Amino acid sequence: MGDEEQEGVFLGIDLGGTQLKAARFSADGTRVAMENAASNAGGDAEEIFGALYSAASTLIGGSRLRGIGVGVAGLLDPGSGRILNSPNIPALSGFALRSRVREAFGDTIPVQMMNDANAAALGEYFAGAGAGSSSMFLLTLGTGIGGGFVVDGNLWTGAAGVGAEVGHMCIRADGPLCHCGARGCLEACVSGWALMRDAGQIAKRHPESAIAELSPRTPLTLAELASAGDRQARALWENAGAMLGTGIANLMNLLNPDRIVLVGGLGGAGDLLFEPARRAWESQAFKEARTFTSVKPGVLGKWAGVRGAIQSFLKK
Ligand SMILES: [Zn+2]
Repeated sequence: MGDEEQEGVFLGIDLGGTQLKAARFSADGTRVAMENAASNAGGDAEEIFGALYSAASTLIGGSRLRGIGVGVAGLLDPGSGRILNSPNIPALSGFALRSRVREAFGDTIPVQMMNDANAAALGEYFAGAGAGSSSMFLLTLGTGIGGGFVVDGNLWTGAAGVGAEVGHMCIRADGPLCHCGARGCLEACVSGWALMRDAGQIAKRHPESAIAELSPRTPLTLAELASAGDRQARALWENAGAMLGTGIANLMNLLNPDRIVLVGGLGGAGDLLFEPARRAWESQAFKEARTFTSVKPGVLGKWAGVRGAIQSFLKK
């Protein structure tokens, strides 16, 4: 505690559509305390900020705060410090996050904000499965699919800051409609919501099937059903895995990063998802590309984003 009093602490926050995760870090980037809460995503912007403020205040205690990093599910404007659009937390669209954080924690507090997938990518790159690599592409496999690309320690975000949106890379031009309005995006083929859509269609067509009777019907219970041998559930994962593998093969051929790191809840399906994925990328990626790109699971779990959100403070 003596060190924290002298050197101060950083606070990392990961504000997702379901969960708010926050952690206190010592000056050298070691995570020393965590808080987990519901993100109040159904509430208004002030209710959501209230959850953030409460978790943050608990963690800061009496320590000297040196910077706050926030990863948010959505599209941000780093210039104005506003959240432009957040599909999973609609109340935050247009919210002036940076100025609200400064109002609550102090005018002079350095505030770093970034997209949540980019934050997770920085976290895994510097303190997780990407450590020691020069280039790493992170895929978040959850309700939606996100991506973050780190090259030589820097996020590669593109001309307009919206690069690495791998969830909306087209996998099948004639594929299912995506939330973004296009067809056949990776997210429309593989994500948690895509699996639920496909399972729902099976349940409708086959009311006597095990999938129709599954309650609650979630990616996790669908994985359990598939592991128990249910043919229709296995086929769902087989299809999702093959599409994921095509996405990974595209990344290998296009970018050939040192590592592709997979994080997020769908990974809980394990080989149900990853075996068909591996078969697809092994048959679709150039041999040189797949040989020199290793595919690994993340190691920081749900704490990757909070770690990445404070990374820029540690470089100084
Ligand atoms: Zn899309």
